[in-house]
Amino acid sequence: HVSTKPPPEPSPLRKAKFFQANMRILVTGGAGFIGSHLVDKLMQNEKNEVIVVDNYFTGSKDNLKQWIGHPRFELIRHDVTETLLVEVDQIYHLACPASPIFYKYNPVKTIKTNVIGTLNMLGLAKRVGARILLTSTSEVYGDPLVHPQTEDYWGNVNPIGVRSCYDEGKRVAETLMFDYHRQHGIEIRIARIFNTYGPRMNIDDGRVVSNFIAQAIRDEPLTVQLPGTQTRSFCYVSDMVDGLIRLMEGNNTGPINIGNPGEFTMTELAETVKEMINPNVKIITVDNTPDDPRQRKPNITKANELLGWEPKIKLRDGIPLMEEDFRKRLEIPRKK
Ligand code: NAD
Ligand code: UDP
Ligand code: UDP
Repeated sequence: HVSTKPPPEPSPLRKAKFFQANMRILVTGGAGFIGSHLVDKLMQNEKNEVIVVDNYFTGSKDNLKQWIGHPRFELIRHDVTETLLVEVDQIYHLACPASPIFYKYNPVKTIKTNVIGTLNMLGLAKRVGARILLTSTSEVYGDPLVHPQTEDYWGNVNPIGVRSCYDEGKRVAETLMFDYHRQHGIEIRIARIFNTYGPRMNIDDGRVVSNFIAQAIRDEPLTVQLPGTQTRSFCYVSDMVDGLIRLMEGNNTGPINIGNPGEFTMTELAETVKEMINPNVKIITVDNTPDDPRQRKPNITKANELLGWEPKIKLRDGIPLMEEDFRKRLEIPRKK
């Protein structure tokens, strides 16, 4: 479904803005894990002005502390399920809890964020003529019957399960993006993000990399959820941000998979973390949650060919960077 046709004619407002030096960029969910790293990268370009909108459900001002007070930066406490009036050229729409324990905490709110939140950002994009990028997810493939997952695979998703608020929510968000594109000529970009890790992840958000690293540092057993043979592919956050910016700046609507094709079973991941961080720690098995996908690995041919993108950081190079950040935040230095 990757469209190769040129983007629609820019609106008069966008054309007029073309002659201004500054690009004004809205990042929804910019106080979160991926969003704050994206903001860091966007702020490095002196031509960019960045506006972050976040309701702080899972994000925090702390992630943006180096930018608060900067003349090219603004931070607004706002929930994307409410109407937002700002004037911008680009919208990176990330707002949505990403960790299962947080998106299952208030599933109705998760759906509203995905559906009404995305509708509002598309209404905003339409009014001001902005280009909009949605961070969709590999969860749209559900428990995939095609492996590795290519963008043309339609997925195997339970519409009434406990994960549906998130994965069906993102599927509707993708539909809205394409309907605004076809019906109103909005310039859209869709990234299907695969599991991402790195500094600033919530320490207790229940995701597997953050769990294992925090457990290894705290000398607690690593909890492999059964059966342990399920696989995931982990992308370091700087690679992810690079892919998102290339997608926004390029000419393809997507959807485009962005992720690291290195695939690991959860048992292998636990063994790697144990070996690298704490060889004395125990690995135990615990019950899993319903509808857990059994395998996941991106086919990134499209990202490679259309965006010239591929991940650079291997899991074994990323784990120590995340360990350092977690040790600082947990105040547990490495034993000599
Ligand atoms: P995160 O939870 O750290 O960030 C999400 C941010 O959105 C938080 O700052 C949160 O406070 C904010 N938010 C949530 N609901 C909101 C609302 N209604 N209004 C305003 N702000 C709201 O998660 P993340 O890992 O940084 O994920 C960012 C995006 O990437 C999400 O859209 C997520 O679905 C997508 N994604 C992430 C991963 C991953 O592995 N991290 C994988 C696939 C997709
Ligand atoms: N919207 C917004 N900011 C804007 C423009 C629109 O938040 O600058 C919201 C608006 O509240 C509406 C949604 O986006 O609910 C969809 O807008 P659109 O104009 O597409 O639809 P309509 O308002 O005609 O239903
Ligand atoms: N998982 C695990 N131990 C944990 C947390 C998660 O073995 O402490 C497993 C989980 O069963 C799943 C995989 O790790 O198979 C990835 O889970 P995560 O919540 O990180 O992300 P997602 O399910 O969204 O891919």
